[in-house]
Amino acid sequence: MTAHPIAFLDLKAQQARLGPDLRARIEAVLAHCQFILGPEVGELETQLAQFCGAAHCVAVSSGTDALQIALMAEGIGPGDAVFLPAFTYTATAEVALVLGATPVFVDIDARTFQIDPEALEARIAAVKAAGKLRPRALIGVDLFGQPADWPRLAAIAARHELFTLDDCAQSFGARLGGAPLGRAAHATAISFFPSKPLGGYGDGGALFTESAERAALYRSLRSHGEGTTRYEVLRTGMNGRLDTLQAAVLLAKLAHFPAEIKARQHLAGLYDRALAGLVETPARVPESESAWAVYAILLADGAKREAAQAALRAANIASAIYYPKPLHHQPAYRAHHDGTPLPVSEAVAARILALPIHPDLSDDDVARVAATLSTALAPPAR
Ligand SMILES: *Cc1c(COP(=O)(O)O)cnc(C)c1O
Repeated sequence: MTAHPIAFLDLKAQQARLGPDLRARIEAVLAHCQFILGPEVGELETQLAQFCGAAHCVAVSSGTDALQIALMAEGIGPGDAVFLPAFTYTATAEVALVLGATPVFVDIDARTFQIDPEALEARIAAVKAAGKLRPRALIGVDLFGQPADWPRLAAIAARHELFTLDDCAQSFGARLGGAPLGRAAHATAISFFPSKPLGGYGDGGALFTESAERAALYRSLRSHGEGTTRYEVLRTGMNGRLDTLQAAVLLAKLAHFPAEIKARQHLAGLYDRALAGLVETPARVPESESAWAVYAILLADGAKREAAQAALRAANIASAIYYPKPLHHQPAYRAHHDGTPLPVSEAVAARILALPIHPDLSDDDVARVAATLSTALAPPAR
């Protein structure tokens, strides 16, 4: 008998667990037919803001659009430097380039994989000394479910008068210093891509801010720059609204979200204990609770990683490399990088491997993943 597959996401099991709530929410939208900015969108915005204690929430069409809208609202464009980690998903850098700004890639911490505040200081100083770009914004990424070092990042940004944007696409539900993420920066962007901790059944995202002015701008920008009436166009915006149907799905899922985070934290603890001594297990950011979007281990080298992946594949277990290349090595971004070495991002990209972690994974599944890795990586018997 072959063992059952262990996937990165089990949307069928998730639907079964969410039960009739999900279908009732969807049916309600089918009944009222307000598919664009229907009542569920406002209801979701209120609940999300309450969840993280933010003053304002604006739901948008994706995490990428959330990031872009936040930069558009600050008027960021050509000649502006936007600092961001080299080790992140492409969208973080893409939004700066789409607006004509220049992404400035910053190296990461070798243990937590989060943007390194000291490296950030050095990059800001270098951009100022070169005198070609205006330092304007910092996009700090909360990678893999863990928070970036926001107290230090915010202090550096304040000293250099940078707008701070928290790319929290992977980490909604995480906590830092006892508080949920959502208020660590001038604006916080989250994603509802299905594999994110709070995933919808399609694309979606949201912005949080403490500023009423920013929230009003975000609402305008997500609807073509509209003013107080629909056909008054105040600025260049975009079509960046969240679908009512996605809001309905997310409302059903939000009720289960705290329990899902607890389940992910439990599984991460099991992995930690089962893999101790075999591989480098993920370091915790101090004073934080991770949302565990990704459980990433470090193998000794690239060959060991290949061996681990092959063994997992043979055992019908999914694994993935987030990210095989830091962004400054991507063909689309190479030309925008000034050549500064970013050795930690490069080393981590060569050794990292993500294992399945999601609320529908069982303790036995984790044990099977660990046993498979242990067999694959153990020194040969003599
Ligand atoms: C997923 C992700 C995004 C983009 O979110 P989408 O909803 O897919 O557009 C941005 N940044 C990071 C770090 C992400 O992981």
